[in-house]
Amino acid sequence: MTYNVDEKGYYGEYGGAYIPEMLYPNVEELRQQYIAITSEKEFQEEFQELLREYVGRPTPLYFAKRFSEKYGTKIYLKREDLCHTGAHKVNNTIGQILLAKRLGKHRIIAETGAGQHGVATATVCALMGLECIVYMGEIDIKRQAPNVARMKMLGATVVPATSGSKTLKDATNEAIRDWINNPIDTHYIIGSVVGPHPYPDMVARFQSVISEEIKNQLQEKEGRSSPDYVVACVGGGSNAAGAYYHYLDNPDVGIIAVEAAGKGVDSGESAATSVLGKMGIIHGSKTLLMQTNDGQITEPYSISAGLDYPGVGPMHAHLYTSGRGEFISVTDDDAMEAGLELSKLEGIIPAIETSHALAIFKERKFKKDDVVVINLSGRGDKDLNTYIEYFNL
Ligand SMILES: *Cc1c(COP(=O)(O)O)cnc(C)c1O
Repeated sequence: MTYNVDEKGYYGEYGGAYIPEMLYPNVEELRQQYIAITSEKEFQEEFQELLREYVGRPTPLYFAKRFSEKYGTKIYLKREDLCHTGAHKVNNTIGQILLAKRLGKHRIIAETGAGQHGVATATVCALMGLECIVYMGEIDIKRQAPNVARMKMLGATVVPATSGSKTLKDATNEAIRDWINNPIDTHYIIGSVVGPHPYPDMVARFQSVISEEIKNQLQEKEGRSSPDYVVACVGGGSNAAGAYYHYLDNPDVGIIAVEAAGKGVDSGESAATSVLGKMGIIHGSKTLLMQTNDGQITEPYSISAGLDYPGVGPMHAHLYTSGRGEFISVTDDDAMEAGLELSKLEGIIPAIETSHALAIFKERKFKKDDVVVINLSGRGDKDLNTYIEYFNL
């Protein structure tokens, strides 16, 4: 029994590659090559060197003393907020750009909602001197002006998606259309553990550096490589997949996934996919998905842009359904309070996505000697305006 992907690209009954025929050659090329290429010694050396010299890894595993005292348990923070560009997303974009180069691709496309994945993609394209086109909903372009400016400074072309609701889903459709039209020279960098196989597994492997480091760092600090619990927020699920990866099949480690309840799970304005979702297909993957009775995707809502997604990756759908993972949903209000609390107790202003994971201690009790690792997925600089408005700062 494993909670990792099987050879057909499934996690239990979730996953697979449900794609239009015209996309098949692109996805099949990736599927056939991703393991062989990323296992090469030279690939690994270049990947590890960039993670070290460019991203700034290993990120610290910090014992949060005052936060721990407050909640009566031992809390460690895995500091992905200290990665270059301010979040974990760059671990994946570095991996994928190295893969794209080895596949002979010289044009990179990506979709972005809030712009965080767009910035991480534009960053690695600048680093490698590759052309970068980022599809972004017209409404998101207006809402996320600073990230649009960053992408432009980094040399990317930002293309507005003007169809449908003019947000992430429509940007994704445009990116897929582009890929169908440019199968030879273009690689599509997906930003989370979503999409058709092999994307969820490929992204999880690139992000697995997080739990690899946690193992070594905990061994040094606690004399054991596994914590009692590992906690992460889940949008699509990539920072969570990276934090859980080396513990998935270790039953001694509790896995806690935190979703955005928005204004409340029953409010109609929520992104708590595990509770509200049913099995369906989104972006080429069979997974849990928020949908109407007719199977139309429901608009999700969360105060945090990175958690505002109507599905979860297939790994997480399986963790939920199998009971391996404990899923908790946290409202906007509780997340905002937790973000402010960490700032005051530890001098660390977290991304609002991460604040959701930090909020679980109000309800979920742990034993005094429990070692709880929280993946601090990103820093709060990008969210300053939201914090300012919310708290009247
Ligand atoms: C994008 C983002 C997330 C959500 O994405 P996952 O794929 O679920 O990790 C969480 N935290 C931060 C800081 C992000 O930028």
